[in-house]
Amino acid sequence: MIEAEPQSYDRVLSSMCTDPHPSAVAAANRFLGSNPGDPATFPAIADLESRAIDLLGEITGIDTAHGYIASGGTEANIQAMHVARNCASVESPTVIVPESAHVSFHKAAELLDVTIEVTPVDENGQADVDAMRERVGEETIMVVGVAGTTEYGRVDPIPEIAELAATYDVHCHVDAAWGGFFLPFTDYSWNFADAAIDSLTIDPHKVGRAAIPAGGFLVRAPAMLDAVRFDAPYLEDGSQPTLGGTRSGAGVASTVAVLSELWPDTYRHEFERCMGNATWLADALSERGFDVVAPELPLVVADVSERTFTALRDHGWRISRTRADELRIVCMPHVTREQLSTFLDDVDVVRESAITRGQAGDS
Ligand SMILES: *Cc1c(COP(=O)(O)O)cnc(C)c1O
Repeated sequence: MIEAEPQSYDRVLSSMCTDPHPSAVAAANRFLGSNPGDPATFPAIADLESRAIDLLGEITGIDTAHGYIASGGTEANIQAMHVARNCASVESPTVIVPESAHVSFHKAAELLDVTIEVTPVDENGQADVDAMRERVGEETIMVVGVAGTTEYGRVDPIPEIAELAATYDVHCHVDAAWGGFFLPFTDYSWNFADAAIDSLTIDPHKVGRAAIPAGGFLVRAPAMLDAVRFDAPYLEDGSQPTLGGTRSGAGVASTVAVLSELWPDTYRHEFERCMGNATWLADALSERGFDVVAPELPLVVADVSERTFTALRDHGWRISRTRADELRIVCMPHVTREQLSTFLDDVDVVRESAITRGQAGDS
């Protein structure tokens, strides 16, 4: 028996992961030894993976979804670029991503020898489609929209980005790795039904509450998967469209378990609770004089000094920063109002001790 204890989520305000749902834990345990990467040898988990993709299709507005359960959003985004590159016949391929795009697109560009062009976001943190349009050219193979950005939880104008992609006949990918399980309960246009997008990333192991690793990679047409399929004669099935070889049966089975059990009612309830917490926290920080970025999804960003940030970490809070050095708090399902109250008590303690010592506060 190893002596280490898994860390609890009690003080975790920085993560886009959360406690897996009990149904996910039970399903994951049962399928730990199954390999969906070898579907002909492990048909039971292969069937579950088809169900997982169908269910993810339901959430993302497509009747006949194709795709697979990847190791996470990073792999899904890499595969999206891989598909776009292999489907295009372009000498020096270029992809256009807003500056809010996840680091995985930069990893993908390096791996695939694709040039990445980063375009600005507007003052609300959403992709500037005019700026993207100015950069589209002969060598462009893909444009990307983010539905729930990692730093600010913003949703890009997906229909406009899809229209731009259609005009130039390039691949349109939507990254909803984090936002995908919140967005069905908002008014945003973000999925296959809302726009003519080609592929989409949605992570069951984040807001979906499946067991890690479970990322979702969905494409509109099976030919897109064939574009990245490799022959693997030693497998009974003979070929693989995935980046990984052996994959997690736990990720696949727990995805089916949570989607069957939580979609849509529990997810709707979780969205409302998480969003309520984010709004409440944003208001409470504003009242204390901090500059707060108003949350549009359950993610709160506020300007706090280096000293306050460090002091809060010393109080045991797991918190993180944006590139602009702001405090970033992700109101995931494990984050409760009570936990946030305790956090705010610590914010007050930290500020009072600063005042007592005559140091400048944050506001
Ligand atoms: C978390 C995240 C990813 C990466 O997902 P992993 O599962 O960590 O690989 C990609 N895109 C967005 C928008 C994310 O928030």
